Amino acid sequence: MERSRSLQRRAESLIPGGVDSPVRAFRSVGGDPPFVDRAEGAYLFDADGNRYIDYFGSWGPMILGHAAPPVVAAIREAAGKGASFGASTAAEAELAQRITQAVPSIEKLRFVSSGTEAVMSAIRVARAFTGRNRILKFEGCYHGHSDALLVKAGSGVATLGIPGSAGIPMETTQFTTAIRYNDLAEVKKVFAKHPEEIACVILEPVVGNAGTILSQPGYLEGLREICTRAGTLLIFDEVMTGFRVAYGGAQALYGITPDMTTLGKIIGGGLPVGAFGGRAEIMNLLAPLGPVYQAGTLSGNPLAMAAGIATLQALADGGDTLYDALAETTSRIAHGVADEAKAAGIPMYVAGVGSMFTWFFQGGPVHNFADAERSDTALFGRFHRGMLERGVWLPPSQFEAAFVSTAHGEAEVEATLAAARAVFADIAQG
Ligand SMILES: *Cc1c(COP(=O)(O)O)cnc(C)c1O
Repeated sequence: MERSRSLQRRAESLIPGGVDSPVRAFRSVGGDPPFVDRAEGAYLFDADGNRYIDYFGSWGPMILGHAAPPVVAAIREAAGKGASFGASTAAEAELAQRITQAVPSIEKLRFVSSGTEAVMSAIRVARAFTGRNRILKFEGCYHGHSDALLVKAGSGVATLGIPGSAGIPMETTQFTTAIRYNDLAEVKKVFAKHPEEIACVILEPVVGNAGTILSQPGYLEGLREICTRAGTLLIFDEVMTGFRVAYGGAQALYGITPDMTTLGKIIGGGLPVGAFGGRAEIMNLLAPLGPVYQAGTLSGNPLAMAAGIATLQALADGGDTLYDALAETTSRIAHGVADEAKAAGIPMYVAGVGSMFTWFFQGGPVHNFADAERSDTALFGRFHRGMLERGVWLPPSQFEAAFVSTAHGEAEVEATLAAARAVFADIAQG
């Protein structure tokens, strides 16, 4: 870790905390983060030559594993033709078409460069469409770091123990209401208190940013019904779940049709991409057709579109077989490690769907952020450090989802279970 440590010191002198996104600094698990030199398939290789099985997959995008040959080839070909033009290319409509086919609730969409931008823009359109200001969101759901949405926002914020963020005026969040996830009675109370004021309800249909939390049966249906009745737009933030829990995202998996959807991560194949979309009558409010301004110098970037098209092509080609195999591998890892924990007398609650999951260090169940917060984060930290020492790199926070890729196979499952067994044995000895 010598080289990583010295790279971290240099980075700290130039970049706050040495990182461009706070959770990368390992503050909640301790120790210095390895610096990545390269990655291939299921593995990350650090600056000191160590190899790790990767379970955070760049926080979600790398569902095909790292440096997947068709994605690398597509990026190379696009790069040879020029990195950016600031004018339209055929690739944008091609990726848009693949997305609308996979997610039929999206009739039209627009590309941006991050999930944060996608959500921020979707909210603007929702407010314009309804002529209302208020946003209803849920504790533990993260929707990017834009001002109005950084209220009780899970993961990064929770990990650092900061309530929201400094630098956001009260006036900016006065129209944001944040309530407990998985509780329809709470939702009804807010609607009763603010009739005809709520522009949109936004949520992660499977929470990933508080650790993985599944929506309870009937919850999404209930939200759909309440929103329809109130003339409020239902926005599914599928930046993480889109093309992850199913090709068509959580809305396909659970059979719920939102009014708008935000996407990111997988649709960019590892390059910076976000998208927001929905019914045409809503999206047609965007300039140049309508009065809602939204723009981006690098939006629809040709390299990013190429990486996204290659990724969705591989996922579509793999079809149900690919998603079933992913879920099977994930289940073996998630439940296999939990069995090892139980054998060592360590309470553990597993939550997961498809190829995303979380090991909560507690007995569970976990239905909302307050439940997640009951986890033993110190124990999680020990587990994380022990696994890293044994060549398994987990997301460095109890409140983040882990991801499995199509490159994870039998060898990685076995190595992960063996590492966990050794770490739990150490922990059990005190
Ligand atoms: C990652 C994520 C975002 C933010 O996306 P960025 O590309 O990091 O800005 C928004 N919503 C959800 C659900 C996410 O998982």
